[in-house]
Amino acid sequence: MKRIIAKTVKSYDIGGCLRRETFCALEWRAAKPVWNTDRCFKCGVCSLSCPDAAIIQVDEGFYDANPDRCKGCGICSEACINEAITMSPEKK
Ligand code: SF4
Ligand code: SF4
Repeated sequence: MKRIIAKTVKSYDIGGCLRRETFCALEWRAAKPVWNTDRCFKCGVCSLSCPDAAIIQVDEGFYDANPDRCKGCGICSEACINEAITMSPEKK
């Protein structure tokens, strides 16, 4: 099993989230958020709810999660006002 070690904590960025340059959540998270653009109003509530500031605006004003930062906690899915985000098991 690959061992993941957070070697450095470089800085705090806007929103108070820790930025770990050598730490990638994609290596260990159990689930990932998946957006259904047919249900998304582009309101941005999911982006504001993410404790890791992992959600960014992408093409045409929709949202998606940065896989390096998203921990798979599911908070964005719970926060979405129109059930546009579902949590999907991460394939290993
Ligand atoms: S909270 Fe839901 S409806 Fe609003 S932007 Fe995010 S995914 Fe879209
Ligand atoms: S699952 Fe958690 S960490 Fe990932 S984008 Fe949603 S709120 Fe952020």
